[in-house]
Amino acid sequence: MMEAKEACGVFGVYAPGRDVAHLTFDGLYALQHRGQESAGMAVSDGENLTVMKDMGLVTTVFDERKLSGLGGHLAIGHTRYSTAGSSSWSNAQPVYRSVGQAGFGLAHNGNLTNTAELAERAGMLPGLVASDSDLVADLLGAAHTRPDDHVGELEAALCAVLPEIEGAFSFVLLDTDRIIGVRDPNGFRPLCLGRLDPVAGTGIPEGWVLASESPALDVVGATFVRELEPGELVVIDADGVRSERPFPEARIDPRLCIFEFVYFARPDTRLYGVEVHGARRRMGELLADQAPVDADMVMGVPDSGVPAAEGYARSSGIPYGQGLVKNRYIGRTFIAPTQTERANGVRRKLNPLRENIAGKRLVVVDDSIVRGTTTRAMVRMLREAGAAQVHLRISSPPFRWPCFYGIDTPDQDELLAAVKSIDEIVAFLGVDSLEYLTLDHLVTAIGAPGAGFCSACLTGEYPVRVELQTRSGATAVLAGASTTAGG
Ligand code: 5GP
Ligand code: SF4
Ligand code: MG
Repeated sequence: MMEAKEACGVFGVYAPGRDVAHLTFDGLYALQHRGQESAGMAVSDGENLTVMKDMGLVTTVFDERKLSGLGGHLAIGHTRYSTAGSSSWSNAQPVYRSVGQAGFGLAHNGNLTNTAELAERAGMLPGLVASDSDLVADLLGAAHTRPDDHVGELEAALCAVLPEIEGAFSFVLLDTDRIIGVRDPNGFRPLCLGRLDPVAGTGIPEGWVLASESPALDVVGATFVRELEPGELVVIDADGVRSERPFPEARIDPRLCIFEFVYFARPDTRLYGVEVHGARRRMGELLADQAPVDADMVMGVPDSGVPAAEGYARSSGIPYGQGLVKNRYIGRTFIAPTQTERANGVRRKLNPLRENIAGKRLVVVDDSIVRGTTTRAMVRMLREAGAAQVHLRISSPPFRWPCFYGIDTPDQDELLAAVKSIDEIVAFLGVDSLEYLTLDHLVTAIGAPGAGFCSACLTGEYPVRVELQTRSGATAVLAGASTTAGG
């Protein structure tokens, strides 16, 4: 019933002597593109843990007054993506629970694939589990562990619970004394570590930062140290950074979401050591080689299609130009229940540059088509503005399969490329021609040799088994290979 949504953003900071609430605010603001539904943070001063969260953008939820009331030396934060149906305060994060004597906060980016099984094993009624993040927090709270002094209850609980859970999860947690970062054994969602230098002459020691994407390190003045490895857990406290491997070795299989490169991540983010913008530009270059066309101007659909358009123009020699202006105050997502409202949504977001377009044969580059509604309205807008031809070039393969790893995609029967042939899509969108970048070219363009990716939404090959809740309430399992999902 809705277009695909971006993943959540998570952030954590351990920095004695610094204003961690403001640092978390800045970090979350840099991750706002990963979710606009709700924002929150949990701050600890070593004794008290305070959680503040609400619906809305980071700038809506927090202001100077609220931030100055959040004193401490460690914090975590979360921005949540929007969903039309389940948008409510209770879904805002961080989630707060306690394990033993210790309170903790949890922020989650991703989606678990064995929630019903986990709930059943824990003796919970699946219908009563509010969200997979709540479930993990409940399991951690209920874990029977005997931590030694060094490890602490939260880490002991994590080491007991993490091996049980399946799917996509980048977690950032905190208790009163430490922050902890976890990446699932496939590393579906990104998570990186950064360092804050000691401040000379002030006694402020070094600090540490965890973030979904590296620009959130840049904005708080941290230097990028490294990405967490799939299956890695890091504990950050007064003793520095310590790394653990709580998952069985056999489960480690790097599968970063390839859509982070195509669409989700910021262009200035580095993943697998590659700057995303360059990868997108190369996608456009390979698209030009793969699918050339005679045209007068190459344009990108703002913002996500622009880097690939730059690459297409560079490689084809066709001049690059702007054909659409985007209202920069409109967020990434626009959800509206009806077709008319959605078309209005496009008009609200994009407006054509008529003089630049009129009479021209256009190559229009975008990163992806999900249900096709936005694209169709955008093409109509270009035609009305006088475009002579519209050749659509998409810098990823057809999106045919739902994602179960943290991206909220529509059911398969609403994915344009799942229900229509290429010819039918051309007719539906009203374009003169349409080409999608091949998966081989996409991987080549990213340029991280040997790196592992999930591309299940493009291939139907799901790297981690998926437990599907059927409409009757029964549980079916969709295993690795190409299987018809949906339902
Ligand atoms: P459609 O034509 O399928 O309605 O929309 C295609 C547009 O949606 C593309 O410009 C693409 O950048 C964007 N898009 C792709 N994936 C996502 C997503 O997960 N969330 C949002 N908000 N937009 C997406
Ligand atoms: Fe990313 Fe697609 Fe895999 Fe989901 S199915 S994790 S969107 S590559
Ligand atoms: Mg777009």
